[in-house]
Amino acid sequence: MTFYKFPVEENMNCPVYLFASKEIYAEIEKTALNQLLNASTLPGVEVVVGMPDLHQGYGLPIGGVMAAARNGPISPGAVGFDINCGVRLLKTGLKASDLKDKNIILRRLQQAIPAGVGEGSNLNFSEREFKEILANGVSKLIEAGYVSRKAAANCEDNGNFKEADPDTVSSQAISRGIEQLNTLGSGNHFVELQEVASVSDSDELEEGDLMVMVHTGSRGFGHQVATDYIDLAKKTRDKYGLSFPTNNLAFFPWDSKEGRNYLGAMGAAANFAYANRTFLTESIKRVFTELYPDSYIELFYDHTHNIAREEKHVVNGKEMDLLVHRKGATRLASGGKALIPGSMGTGSYVVKSADSENTRLSLNSTAHGAGRKMSRTQAKKSISRQDHMRSLGDVEVVSAGKNILDESPLAYKDITEVISSLQISDLAYPVAQLKPLLCIKG
Ligand code: 5GP
Ligand code: MN
Ligand code: MN
Repeated sequence: MTFYKFPVEENMNCPVYLFASKEIYAEIEKTALNQLLNASTLPGVEVVVGMPDLHQGYGLPIGGVMAAARNGPISPGAVGFDINCGVRLLKTGLKASDLKDKNIILRRLQQAIPAGVGEGSNLNFSEREFKEILANGVSKLIEAGYVSRKAAANCEDNGNFKEADPDTVSSQAISRGIEQLNTLGSGNHFVELQEVASVSDSDELEEGDLMVMVHTGSRGFGHQVATDYIDLAKKTRDKYGLSFPTNNLAFFPWDSKEGRNYLGAMGAAANFAYANRTFLTESIKRVFTELYPDSYIELFYDHTHNIAREEKHVVNGKEMDLLVHRKGATRLASGGKALIPGSMGTGSYVVKSADSENTRLSLNSTAHGAGRKMSRTQAKKSISRQDHMRSLGDVEVVSAGKNILDESPLAYKDITEVISSLQISDLAYPVAQLKPLLCIKG
């Protein structure tokens, strides 16, 4: 069994494929699966696929990919609230064995990185400059001299989402966002020091290398953009004579004025997130330079897992222009690589595309993480502090939030199962495994 196929039934426009092992499939909640099947009922949707990290989300499940034709939908709920949330991996030029005192670097990083729900930034921008960042992402940071040219290399979209248009963004989004660049956010977001534990197929990484992984997105800015446009989609439903299978999948016609405006605003949030991860990298770099003058911080790779973008794919033998929504799913170009975080207690992976028939069927997509095994509420109820501490082993963790049981490794699926699902589905294979050393959680 390399994947599960749900044939076209009732209102579905296309079959739905789920790439998961038997073990993973058995654990997927019915609600998440129904959300995935639901997505295929939107008029103009051509492809729907699920990744092994699938779990319930808002509208489209996390781990879901939904692609629409020109006459099809663009759905803000299917992108999600943390627009362009993503992960980046940094090289440090150090070996894990060079770390002198884990506690010192942990505290220094914690001081340097604003974290927590509404936590503001230590940077100040004029509205004009902020809008230029929204329009041009990392390109603007380079032009303004905040970062070097290297900051754009190895970053998806070169850190600049082309369709971004700050004029399609509400003033509320601007005022929430202008104070939040260079902040980590809450809960699931993290900065983690990792050691390359094993390498099977990579000439860029070596066993023992010390790496830094960063996971964050577009903060209150993206959240406001999503909220604004989900509201607008509900309001413009009748104007375009649409009906939604659920309000959470409210959408615009991709080619409508409102649809294009959403793409512009989503792009602005994408650039916010790229800039945010780039500023955080500068903060991390300062801490490393201070404590380890021989180190350097260089971007290994950065990509998103919450976005919609225009891509060309062959579907049923026909080349099509598609709008591919990936929610908690990552684009993995043929021949390319992707980062798959597991949890703060287990491990994370660098994978490469299997470049197979199935990678094309999945529209070149891969899992974005281990994915949740339990909802936040369920985790807080059922995981004991002792079990949680045991699951961390000797990984040091500090967090802005008080109760992080919902972020416990025990709340997530087994990452090795997710990776082996990708392998048996012929989507991707691991090339390096990363072991957590210390973690700053939001
Ligand atoms: P999401 O964007 O869906 O919140 O999270 C992405 C993935 O990151 C999760 O599915 C989970 O597997 C992984 N993850 C969550 N917290 C941590 C952490 O503290 N460290 C690492 N390495 N991975 C994590
Ligand atoms: Mn996020
Ligand atoms: Mn994320």
